[in-house]
Amino acid sequence: MNPGAPQDQIEAVVARIESVGSQAFVSHGVLRTIIGIVGDTQRCYELNLPAMPGVSTILRVSAPYKLVSSQAHAERSVIHIGPPGHRIPIGPDTFTLIAGPAAVESAEQAHSAARLAAAAGARVLRGGAYKPRMFPLSFQGMGEDGLKILADVREATGLLILTEAMSPADVTLVASYADMLQIGAANMQNYPLLDSVAGTGKPVLLKRGMQATIEEWLMAAEYLTQRGNPHVVLCERGIRTFETATSSTLDISAIPLVQQLSHLPVIADPSQACGRRDLVVPLARAAIAAGADGLLINVHPDPENAVVDGQHSLAGSELRELASAVRQLPPLLGRRPAEPLS
Ligand code: PEP
Ligand code: MN
Repeated sequence: MNPGAPQDQIEAVVARIESVGSQAFVSHGVLRTIIGIVGDTQRCYELNLPAMPGVSTILRVSAPYKLVSSQAHAERSVIHIGPPGHRIPIGPDTFTLIAGPAAVESAEQAHSAARLAAAAGARVLRGGAYKPRMFPLSFQGMGEDGLKILADVREATGLLILTEAMSPADVTLVASYADMLQIGAANMQNYPLLDSVAGTGKPVLLKRGMQATIEEWLMAAEYLTQRGNPHVVLCERGIRTFETATSSTLDISAIPLVQQLSHLPVIADPSQACGRRDLVVPLARAAIAAGADGLLINVHPDPENAVVDGQHSLAGSELRELASAVRQLPPLLGRRPAEPLS
């Protein structure tokens, strides 16, 4: 409370807290009165306490996310993707490489990228059919034709499919082809999209927004979970800092920190984070060393002629280096190597 707040203001705050069944513990100091609140925090947010006369500051002690918090679930979760009999785990005992092109450009390109991804150790193919592009005239993705190509590639290779849904209107269609739905960084707090994706029940890869704090990111995961879809994998993909030498700054500390705060798996996307091919492998190694449960990597058969994100797509010797890091490093950290493709 403000210094010198009168007794009637203190009593009004206490009454409002108690009106929702929470408890208020009042301690009178020399200058100020502090009211400790114990109860359902979500209901307390709705009490509009900051607007009440005499209230100075509200300090939160517990995290606003509950279901995704490690306090709710002490063991780290494993999220499974794929149909029964062909399920791939993402979690603390394994290491999962998800690789593929930024965008599906043609059947030939998608099949070649998938072969490269599988040879590098990927069990899941990434590929966008709906692309979030900054420029309105840039290629926006092949839409359903791209999804059909992804389904053919799954059939031919056994790779599972991760692909992005951008609009609630497309979610049902995208989910009918995908094994896992991606929510892009630009859409992390697009609540109608989170609602639709939650409704599909499909596993979700939730990218961290470029400007999102860890708490905001975990609240987006909480949103999906509270709306009925707890199958969430978090993806650190770089955040905006003052630095312009890379397209964003991969927040390595977020990987172990989020694994402390939440039971959900955390993977890293060094490709989007740095935006430069020469840094992807070193950052991938760093993410593995920091404890990432997997990686999301852009792979393209012909990066120079890629329609989207060629500048950070791997092929050739860099892809071989990535493959060797993914093969060698996770076992040093006690993780099981990926099962061979069936
Ligand atoms: C992507 O992975 O295709 C992508 C666009 O990344 P982000 O949403 O992280 O920018
Ligand atoms: Mn991109």
